[in-house]
Amino acid sequence: LVSRKKKPNDTVVDIGGIEVGNGNQQFVMGPCSVESHQQVDAVASVIKQKGIQLLRGGAFKPRTSPYDFQGLGMEGLKILRDVGDRHGLKVVSEIVNPRDIEPAHEYLDVIQIGARNMQNFELLKEAGKSNRPILLKRGLAATINEFMNAAEYIISQGNGQIILCERGIRTYETSTRNTLDITAVPVLKKETHLPVMVDVTHSTGRRDLLLPAAKAALAIGADGIMAEVHPDPATALSDSQQQMDIDTFNHFMDELQAFYKMD
Ligand code: PEP
Ligand code: MN
Repeated sequence: LVSRKKKPNDTVVDIGGIEVGNGNQQFVMGPCSVESHQQVDAVASVIKQKGIQLLRGGAFKPRTSPYDFQGLGMEGLKILRDVGDRHGLKVVSEIVNPRDIEPAHEYLDVIQIGARNMQNFELLKEAGKSNRPILLKRGLAATINEFMNAAEYIISQGNGQIILCERGIRTYETSTRNTLDITAVPVLKKETHLPVMVDVTHSTGRRDLLLPAAKAALAIGADGIMAEVHPDPATALSDSQQQMDIDTFNHFMDELQAFYKMD
């Protein structure tokens, strides 16, 4: 069902009136983790000023170490919703447990499924029963075919509102956190009718590469960009090495808007 052979026209994902796909590009910006109301609010007001409509922030964090900050859970989703409403932003957050999909409907406009859960089939099936758009990230070591099959799990349960997100894959290269598979964008857009975004933060893991990676993503046909922004990255409870501070974010958006005219 995700195949373009079945549906030749681009799917437009509708996030409460904000469209992604078929020429509509959107930016998803916000902190790696929701840490406090004040922290999310600081980011929301600056992204709003730049015309961004989608706010992200992790509340259930899939961390490599069990001793690292695990996120604020449902409390984090409440903060995100509250800040989103205050600023007129739609909100996106990752859900990791199939049982949390249903309760998350109260707070989220888009449900994110993270790279580590791309083949959590019970989670995918539950997402397929949701009436919220799903932002599905490519697995750390997933082929394009496996990625498409993960999306198939969602659409086969009835939910065709899916945004695919390339976020870098594991290779032998160590100069970036992951290797951004930039041609995944045109391959996915050729093989499927779904919109495709690029997460420049988790793919590169390097602040100095966010802008060139975002330019490349837009130039190659991505339907949007995800990146992390934090008011004080040095004190961030997760991904402190790669999030943009406010000044860097403003510069990033100015450069990108000059490079590529947005609607
Ligand atoms: C995230 O976007 O917060 C995240 C954890 O990304 P990924 O699943 O791509 O690692
Ligand atoms: Mn992160």
